[in-house]
Amino acid sequence: MTISQQYTRVAAEVAQACRDCGRDPSQVTLLAVSKTVQAPRVQEAIDAGACAFGENRPEQLMEKHAAYPSQQWHFIGNLQSRRIHDIVPCATLMHSVYKASHLPKIDAAAQQVGKVQDILLEVNVSGEESKGGIAPAQINDLLSVAEGLAHVRVRGLMTMAPRGDMEIARETFAHLRELEHKINREWRGAQGSPLSELSMGMSEDWRCAISEGSTIVRIGRAIFSEDFA
Ligand SMILES: *Cc1c(COP(=O)(O)O)cnc(C)c1O
Repeated sequence: MTISQQYTRVAAEVAQACRDCGRDPSQVTLLAVSKTVQAPRVQEAIDAGACAFGENRPEQLMEKHAAYPSQQWHFIGNLQSRRIHDIVPCATLMHSVYKASHLPKIDAAAQQVGKVQDILLEVNVSGEESKGGIAPAQINDLLSVAEGLAHVRVRGLMTMAPRGDMEIARETFAHLRELEHKINREWRGAQGSPLSELSMGMSEDWRCAISEGSTIVRIGRAIFSEDFA
């Protein structure tokens, strides 16, 4: 199948999975993670209706954003301090923020280009040492820092589930959803607006994530790889 065909199929499956669990498909964004293809091939997904893309490297984010400026470009990769000023002008949403020290830098970069940067806090729900993200107990500390910054808006939470075991993935996603509910109950959040986004679910576990409340599924291989089963 071509990238266009794969995008079309995944988009239909995502919409169906929403309906299957009683959710409105318009509540879930399909983020096409284009990090494995060169910029010209992004067009094949756009032709099939894709409008939101995810990248994990700043150079690729900048290059593809420049090539397709009217699409949404989300940064989902490991965030490094010195690249923040490159990422902010291009990023609709930054999914992978988890260091308090990065927040003032994002704020400054956003102020410079006259925007308010939407971000998600990446949470290491499973506690795997190899994974990025903050421990659940530290979320409130980051929210306090963000609350004092006029050009940063925390929109929700993001996580990556451990690979392989769907039951553990489901627990991870349910836990992230519970954390967000708890924050919304207890926390007088940034600008008083509740967190609304849950970025969770990838090629292998997005169905499970949608049934646990995901609002953004980040799907790469199922769209862009030729040999994803
Ligand atoms: C690569 C990547 C994805 C997409 O993964 P697939 O398994 O290819 O769907 C999603 N989220 C993050 C953070 C990634 O780095």
